Amino acid sequence: MSKMRKTVPQIDSGIPIPPVVEDLIGQKFGRLLVIERAENCVFPNGTAASRWLCRCDCGRKKIILGQSLRWGATNSCGCLNGEKTAERARARVANIVGQRFGRLVVLSQNGGWCQVRCDCMTERTVRSRDLISGKIDSCGCLKIETLEAIQRAKVIQHWKTKGRA
Ligand SMILES: [Zn+2]
Ligand SMILES: [Zn+2]
Repeated sequence: MSKMRKTVPQIDSGIPIPPVVEDLIGQKFGRLLVIERAENCVFPNGTAASRWLCRCDCGRKKIILGQSLRWGATNSCGCLNGEKTAERARARVANIVGQRFGRLVVLSQNGGWCQVRCDCMTERTVRSRDLISGKIDSCGCLKIETLEAIQRAKVIQHWKTKGRA
């Protein structure tokens, strides 16, 4: 699809269009389809750059700098960035399969939830973020043992005190 139509330099807002401008209409950059030429962007130093009205695959329209399109810096209206962020967030969570958090080993994961096995062989489903934040580090057995240990310590302390008295 070679475009033989020569882009005729125009005067837009009194600023000449840079000579390097090529006709991007009809071209696709990532999710963006260039629909038409938009008003030039004028930088503080007085140079102008071409801008193009694009339609994203998601249906939104956005005016993008021609150079951003050509350099691949912009390839969606912004929806792709949002999806990538969500993807990265999912990937971060998905990485913990096989990892150990205290007594818990992650067996499998589904969204924000993990199937974990405790060292005492109890299996449970817990929130991934509770594991990562350290809120949960056992099936509950550790808490019980800690409480028992505190209880024992108290009893010993009690007897020591009593013995001394
Ligand atoms: Zn979009
Ligand atoms: Zn346990």
